[in-house]
Amino acid sequence: MPHAALRKIDCHVHLIGDGSSGSDCWLRLKAIPHRLMARIMVHEADLPSSVLREGLDTHIERRLVALVRGSSLDAVVLLAQDIPHRDDGTPLPDKGAFFVPNKYLLDVCARHPELFIPAVSIHPARRDAMDELDRCLLAGARVLKLLPNCLNVDYADARYRPFWEKMAASRMILLSHTGGELSLPVIDPKLADPRLLRHPLDCGVTVIAAHCAGRSGLWDPDYTAALLDMFDKWPRLFGDNSALCAPLRCQTLPKILPEPARHRILHGSDFPVAVNGFGPWRLGLINRETWRQSRHQPNVLQRDIFLKHAIGFDDSHLTRMAELSDVV
Ligand SMILES: [Zn+2]
Repeated sequence: MPHAALRKIDCHVHLIGDGSSGSDCWLRLKAIPHRLMARIMVHEADLPSSVLREGLDTHIERRLVALVRGSSLDAVVLLAQDIPHRDDGTPLPDKGAFFVPNKYLLDVCARHPELFIPAVSIHPARRDAMDELDRCLLAGARVLKLLPNCLNVDYADARYRPFWEKMAASRMILLSHTGGELSLPVIDPKLADPRLLRHPLDCGVTVIAAHCAGRSGLWDPDYTAALLDMFDKWPRLFGDNSALCAPLRCQTLPKILPEPARHRILHGSDFPVAVNGFGPWRLGLINRETWRQSRHQPNVLQRDIFLKHAIGFDDSHLTRMAELSDVV
């Protein structure tokens, strides 16, 4: 095994499930576009769409193990997903599209500790938020994932300060979605703004801004410039390049490749989001032959690494997560 700081890690891999193994996970896809998206995602994971009807828990876990083992990665950060809550702590399960409880995530990670690093998810308005944070820390979790615009997490809410302070004191990294979101229902689009991250940053939390705050569609605001401005002020702020090989999000790539921003970027795939070389080719970031070669790579995690390398990211982007977990 390489030295801990040299481990190649994909910092953004979703666990999904349907509860079929008793996991308590659920996947609720009412709207047709979201159902379509789920089919595409299952296809990307190289699974038949029948798994959406039954047995998703076990199929996804097995598939993820095979994908990580069959790639040049040492490990992936595997993400839980909390349900949305009102600011007063009332749960809003009907507003969520999928749920992956921390307990299940931690169980899956414990079954494959060499491959999976747990990123738990706790809405800070939850009445048991601090207790759940304690439980997760005790279980060894050092990354917490939030999707503020879909879960309704307003980082500016002063009531959450003790939560950020505890995270900082425990050296827990916040992996936060930033920018718009197309594949899931959004509760409050304003919460996509990365400038709200100054609140947890102010408390000393190390933050990774997922997707570097770019556009997810054609019309939502592009916050990447605002995020890059923040890099100067906040040395503990980073970005990930997850989902940036998707056809619309790829517009963010040319903005984060130049110096000095590139040194703050971590490698992430956003599995099971589609990874396709079409967008990078259309932008002139890769040639047609590279795009063609990428289509022959059946392992979606490896395809993402292949494309990101060809686009201009190097091994430092793959090892940055390990360096970060070593120093925070
Ligand atoms: Zn994601």
